[in-house]
Amino acid sequence: MQRFEGRVAVITGAGSGIGKATALRLASEGGTIVAVDLDRDAGGAVAKETGGLFIAADVTHEEAVRAAFAEVKEVYGRVDVAFNNAGISPPEDDSILDTGIEAWRKVQEVNLTSVYLCCKYALPHMREQGKGAIVNTASFVATMGAATSQISYTASKGGVLAMSRELGVQFARDGVRVNALSPGPVNTPLLKELFAKDPERAQRRLVHVPFGRFAEPEEIAAAVAFLASDDASFITASNFLVDGGISGA
Ligand code: NAD
Repeated sequence: MQRFEGRVAVITGAGSGIGKATALRLASEGGTIVAVDLDRDAGGAVAKETGGLFIAADVTHEEAVRAAFAEVKEVYGRVDVAFNNAGISPPEDDSILDTGIEAWRKVQEVNLTSVYLCCKYALPHMREQGKGAIVNTASFVATMGAATSQISYTASKGGVLAMSRELGVQFARDGVRVNALSPGPVNTPLLKELFAKDPERAQRRLVHVPFGRFAEPEEIAAAVAFLASDDASFITASNFLVDGGISGA
């Protein structure tokens, strides 16, 4: 029996990086994948590869998120897993002294408001089923702060962590588990883009990782698969660190 057979997993930011690797991983374990992304080409390609559904949506828009979960319910009749993972990094050094309010707001919208919206519209379906698993992508910086300046990003991920904890506590007796997953630095387009602009920043980040390397997206996907599966049946309201030891160093 594969862990996700008969289960429907909605994955935001599924077109790239961690979301894409997770879509492929859950599909390989029998899951039906709903890939949600702004990027139609990338999201559509992942849906094709996994044999699932693609929904083009900006997850910062409440109506788009509401409609996406309603569509999943209509097509498949259930929502078993929500991996709320779409996110952005501030385009450059993001010191509190220099960050403009618009840049700050944009990062909160994409990284935090989107998670609030996806939880809000996934939870009623899961509660009705008496079962469900939500995994929200936070980051190691949420608990330790980053050596590089990225105040809007760090604050948004702290919000994801706090929200996941509270929802995990609130919905445990409904059979719904809610966990945050905090990756360390991962080799994805998000990180590569950031470091291409500032290679020194990559070096500064790398020295803090005990393994001396960044993670591959598949290593994060394996942890998401665990948290989203029944193997994690007694885990909720947690911050699951997959950071190569960076926060312990
Ligand atoms: P990525 O850039 O490779 O992929 C992000 C995906 O999200 C893209 O396909 C993009 O189109 C989509 N997206 C962005 N804004 C969207 C929106 N408003 N609506 C719908 N889709 C949207 O990034 P990644 O590195 O795979 O990051 C995934 C998550 O992991 C993010 O939340 C990120 O903050 C977090 N994270 C990444 C790292 C890392 O080092 N890469 C570390 C810790 C946490």
